[in-house]
Amino acid sequence: MDGKVMVTGGAGYIGSHAVLALLDAGHDVVVLDNLVTGFDWAVDPRATLVRADVADDHAVRAAIRDHDVRAIMHFAGSVVVPESVADPLKYYRNNTAATRALLESAVVEGVAHFIFSSTAATYGSPVRVPVQEGDPTVPINPYGMSKLMTEAMLRDVAAAHPINYCALRYFNVAGADPQGRSGQSTVGATHLIKIAVEAATGKREAVSVFGTDFDTPDGTGVRDYIHVSDLAAAHVAALDLLIAEPTRSHTLNAGYNRGFSVNEVLDAVDRVTNLTIQRRYEGRRAGDPAALVADNSAILAALPWRPRHDDLDTIVRDALAWERKLALRD
Ligand code: UDP
Repeated sequence: MDGKVMVTGGAGYIGSHAVLALLDAGHDVVVLDNLVTGFDWAVDPRATLVRADVADDHAVRAAIRDHDVRAIMHFAGSVVVPESVADPLKYYRNNTAATRALLESAVVEGVAHFIFSSTAATYGSPVRVPVQEGDPTVPINPYGMSKLMTEAMLRDVAAAHPINYCALRYFNVAGADPQGRSGQSTVGATHLIKIAVEAATGKREAVSVFGTDFDTPDGTGVRDYIHVSDLAAAHVAALDLLIAEPTRSHTLNAGYNRGFSVNEVLDAVDRVTNLTIQRRYEGRRAGDPAALVADNSAILAALPWRPRHDDLDTIVRDALAWERKLALRD
């Protein structure tokens, strides 16, 4: 593709892996990140880093023009479900309103393709598991709603303007670049595998298990954990598709079509680390559905993408390797 790909949130966890995948595939990349939760050192030096907020239309439009941006991958946003329950307006600002501004900049500057970080949380408590893209989207927390509102904007914008999009509905993203170039560095993380590997490296004493009375085989929550490098590769494949078929847009689940319970994840961490990490069984966390697993037949049909790291122990091993690297740095 001529021109550059703009990656918003490219200094963050998933965005930094997308930057690596794009660069490895030969794309030119400009990262736009306000560095509130991201880190400048997480951006591969082959990419250009512009420090700005996606809602800053002046800065965003200048960056699009200066770098001849043809496509935007939009990762920037807030991602913690319980926080969204406590502070919904933060989510409607950072996710919904900020993306509205970014889309306007994209349309005004003639950006042709847009790839959006959506989420399985758009389904709420799904009517069936695995869940399909056409199933009802009834979010049960503001995080999911903030992303669903963005999907609605994308649909309308793509119908009115010469831009196409792919909304990827992420399931539970975990792991780290197998080459050790990036990983999850978020301070105050809340996501299960990150918390568990922090416990494995001594940063925490125990892992809380939120809810033991869900309607699942062992009573703990079931999720579809996808390796961050597989997810990053899916973005590159989605970009190729948007370029090849500029009049079509897509909404696709990004997951592996298999679920693990919280206890199964913690068993994997124990196995990989040869430790017995202490579990504290607690009540349910606000906004958590019992089970979320992707039907991934649509993404497998739409893209040449195939998972390469779809193994729970591999995900945990890569997450752990990155956590150990971070621990050495501290
Ligand atoms: N979870 C847990 N303890 C933790 C963090 C998460 O038991 O310290 C559970 C959570 O209730 C859910 C699953 O692990 O069932 C995945 O939660 P996470 O926050 O990683 O992602 P989410 O599914 O909320 O996006």
